[in-house]
Amino acid sequence: MTTDIPVLIAGAGPTGLALAHDLARRGVGFRICDKAPAYFDGSRGKGLQPRSLEVLDDFGMADEILAGGRFHIPFRAYEGARVIGDRDIHAGRVPTPDVPYASPLLIPQWRVEQILRGRMERAGHQVERDTELVAIGQDATGVTATLRHVGQEENVRADYLVGCDGGKSFVRHALGVGFEGETWSEERMFVGDVEVPGLDRDHWHSWQNAEHGWLALCPLPGTNSFQLQAQIGPDDPGVPSLERFQEIVDQRAPGTGLQIAAVSWLSLYRVNIRMVDRYRVGRVFLAGDAAHVHSPAGGQGMNTGIQDAYNLGWKLGLVLNGAPGSLLDTYEEERLPVAAWMLGVTTKLHRQIMPKSGATMQRGPETYQLGISYRGGTLARDDRPEPGAVAAGDRAPDAPCQTSDSKPVRLFDLFRGPHFTLFHLGSGVPDENLGALVHTHRIVDSEGHVRRAYGVGDDVQVLVRPDGYIGTITKNSVGPYLKEVGAYTG
Ligand SMILES: Cc1cc2nc3c(=O)[nH]c(=O)nc-3n(C[C@H](O)[C@H](O)[C@H](O)COP(=O)(O)OP(=O)(O)OC[C@H]3O[C@@H](n4cnc5c(N)ncnc54)[C@H](O)[C@@H]3O)c2cc1C
Repeated sequence: MTTDIPVLIAGAGPTGLALAHDLARRGVGFRICDKAPAYFDGSRGKGLQPRSLEVLDDFGMADEILAGGRFHIPFRAYEGARVIGDRDIHAGRVPTPDVPYASPLLIPQWRVEQILRGRMERAGHQVERDTELVAIGQDATGVTATLRHVGQEENVRADYLVGCDGGKSFVRHALGVGFEGETWSEERMFVGDVEVPGLDRDHWHSWQNAEHGWLALCPLPGTNSFQLQAQIGPDDPGVPSLERFQEIVDQRAPGTGLQIAAVSWLSLYRVNIRMVDRYRVGRVFLAGDAAHVHSPAGGQGMNTGIQDAYNLGWKLGLVLNGAPGSLLDTYEEERLPVAAWMLGVTTKLHRQIMPKSGATMQRGPETYQLGISYRGGTLARDDRPEPGAVAAGDRAPDAPCQTSDSKPVRLFDLFRGPHFTLFHLGSGVPDENLGALVHTHRIVDSEGHVRRAYGVGDDVQVLVRPDGYIGTITKNSVGPYLKEVGAYTG
């Protein structure tokens, strides 16, 4: 049997689910499959960075996400049973008019996946579980993929395939794309979700200077569990179990009497730092861990996967609607340098955190991912001789302002959804009707937040891409830009 579909997504982790949601809201047809028979319920990535919170806000799910997590859980450092101090590694990070989410939200990865999945299901789509992608081929007009489900094989013909199938990616192997980097076999830790009755849930408990390696217990919001992370030495056989976790707690947190009552997930983690040299081969794309893996220090992996998907979704939507295929080249152009940069940031943090004393170190602003920019790239056009506070290619900041009929609004309210947003502050710009994919607004900026955040006057207009980056800032018509990316046929 052969079925035809615009997009096939292999893998329903956070990356695949974010892409599925983005395609669903654009009305793009897709199937999403996952070889695992059941949902993964280990916490793994437990932090959403401010930029990912903005993405999920644009998806219209900020309320659900915020209700499932917590900001600013301070580290509590111990020696044995003695508390030696508390520290909020994101201290001083509070929302501002241009940055509504100022610090990471602690939330278990499975909860993020559950919320993304729930939205997708409400839009009428399901993950096809226990369905493994086992073969792919492609030609000039499409991809042929073989899916295996309980021993039965099905051939699917798709316009595009996106491999969101994790660090061991079948798609990457099938394409013959290299995954260059290093495995630090000696740097291992146990990770698991454990219940520890009586341990307070308002601190991230940490024994940094314990003799046999550090131990941390982080409360997982919305659950009774803590994520346990424990460094282990090269001689440790590396077999995780409730008994071994208890032994570690007894040894590294002596005198606390802490007892592990239950374990719902246990694993051995080994540091891998690797990335691809290509994000695209013909009609097949790689996204998320399939394209980059790195140290969990700094909490970037799930976030970067979600943002890969967010970058690709609108481009696939437009190209499937007739835009030039070259738009899809900008996916690799924009996202590959982000992966390379992120590997550098996480490796540096890993070096600082993994030795005994770095866990409570203040995090640098780069980990919030708000500074990611595509400035200077194919899709960034700034007519001004000097950039303002931000330039084309940068993240489009938020700002409270008013609509032309004096209703209070935030720019992020105007951006929310799958469209482009064109806004300006004055009447000295072309008045254009640019079709359904572009929402146009004249903004009243009585408190000056828009001018401060963007550094623009009344004489320019700002076009914001569907993924919240500035496409162009110009005095002229944005029609030619939109025609080029296929968002307007005029
Ligand atoms: C201990 C630990 C702590 C972490 N902490 C953080 C953190 O704080 N913040 C953060 O952002 N990230 C963190 N991460 C990283 C984060 O968990 C990953 O980056 C994230 O899961 C990647 O998402 P993904 O969707 O790309 O891949 P995955 O989550 O790996 O999903 C891939 C999916 O593809 C499926 N699949 C595989 N092969 C096939 C196939 N052939 N056919 C169909 N389906 C297939 C798999 O079953 C799986 O469901 C951490 C990871 C670990 C291990």
